[in-house]
Amino acid sequence: MSGLALNSVSKQFGTFTAVDHVQLTVPHGTFVCMLGPSGCGKTTLLRMIAGLDTPTSGAILIDGADITPVPTHKRDFGMVFQSLALFPHLTVGENIAYPLRIRGAAKEAQKKRVDELLAMIDLTGYAGRPVNKLSGGQRQRVAIARALAISPRLFLLDEPLSALDAKLREAMQVELRQLQQQLGITTIVVTHDQREAMTMADTVVVMNGGQIRQAASPVEIYRRPADRFVADFIGSTNLLAVESDSAGRTVVLGHPVEGVTIPDGLTKATLSVRPEDVHLTGPGAGRINGKVAFIRDLGGTIETFVDISGTRVIAVSTPRERPSVHIGQEVGVTLSPDVCVVLKQ
Ligand code: ATP
Repeated sequence: MSGLALNSVSKQFGTFTAVDHVQLTVPHGTFVCMLGPSGCGKTTLLRMIAGLDTPTSGAILIDGADITPVPTHKRDFGMVFQSLALFPHLTVGENIAYPLRIRGAAKEAQKKRVDELLAMIDLTGYAGRPVNKLSGGQRQRVAIARALAISPRLFLLDEPLSALDAKLREAMQVELRQLQQQLGITTIVVTHDQREAMTMADTVVVMNGGQIRQAASPVEIYRRPADRFVADFIGSTNLLAVESDSAGRTVVLGHPVEGVTIPDGLTKATLSVRPEDVHLTGPGAGRINGKVAFIRDLGGTIETFVDISGTRVIAVSTPRERPSVHIGQEVGVTLSPDVCVVLKQ
């Protein structure tokens, strides 16, 4: 296999299992985001890939070669961590040149590479500036350039944008993705921000409790979540009980729903329906009927909370599609069966 492979990698801290038999392949040139709640083991996994932590069991391979025992400095990986760890007393140019200097690169070669990297991160002319005179976003770009100075085999970033404000962070997500595509460099980013992961990644790896719950493209993760955890963690969703009645029909919220099938061998499951796939109609016989309990108007989208015999279902629409409803109004709810996902409980 060409690229990175994690072969049943685990990490124990005493009796606690932080990473549990992780199996993953990252083909060359792809962008992977590891996503999950705090404490799910993402940083520990990244540290093991970086060689900063040793797996308790399992192996890490690059292009088929086992690098598990290879120390960090011999892996030729570029790394950016949350703290950035730029040298505050050095200039932008000196920071970027640092990995080249410690590898003994000639002065001329250092300068040439620094100039290339400064052009790449749009900071041409900044070489002589002290890093502590830069903005947060500029510092971020310098840290990225420094990590790329040696043309690393793998580019590893741990929450690299979390210190930035929301606007700058979104802009940097796009920049980072464009840079990765331009360089074709295999990149792994740890984040707890799903929007960030969806913006940048070819493959989103969703982790929980030290395990990978799903590794797939952003759209697949969103549209075909593998389990209840992923469905709930990515975006917002309505998780509804679904069961087979005595006539073999699939029943949701007390009503038979056509086109939804419960997995073989089960009589009960959970239906995940995204709010944008819930449509409001007038109430009527044979419909799923409820009462509007709350309306959240966010300007660009409107969330309507409907109470159906004690279960809350959220429907999202844009102002243009907005059904004219008010709190307390009786409405009918339709779910699009083709986009509902049935999950084992
Ligand atoms: P966060 O988003 O909060 O950084 P994370 O998903 O990156 O979380 P990790 O830092 O990988 O999580 O930690 C996973 C689990 O392992 C946590 O419960 C953490 O407390 C534990 N852990 C991490 N490092 C150590 C250590 N050196 N000794 C003991 N436990 C550790």
